[in-house]
Amino acid sequence: MTEPRYPAQAYSNGRGDPVPRHRRNPRRAYDREGREIAPMDLANAAENGVQIIRAICPPPCRHEGQVPLAAFPSTMAVRDVGLYLRCTVCGRKGLESEPVWSRRDGL
Ligand SMILES: [Zn+2]
Repeated sequence: MTEPRYPAQAYSNGRGDPVPRHRRNPRRAYDREGREIAPMDLANAAENGVQIIRAICPPPCRHEGQVPLAAFPSTMAVRDVGLYLRCTVCGRKGLESEPVWSRRDGL
């Protein structure tokens, strides 16, 4: 028998009741039992050195822009920031959003 690759506590445990697949939010992660895993919010991102959120328009546009993290409430999930933005090229609402990680060594 092989050892598990990661210890059990290495995985995030979800909270609350399991959510059926057809009712899950595509901007959230779920554990093995289907319970929602708390998303990274802007306060947590800022603690980890993030100052900018990248917004990406879905295909076929694929336009990318950057917005300062400070422009949104600290309790907002990083993945939800894009919902409040509009693409400046095609005008579409509901963009993807992700943190722009800054390197601690300043490079
Ligand atoms: Zn666009």
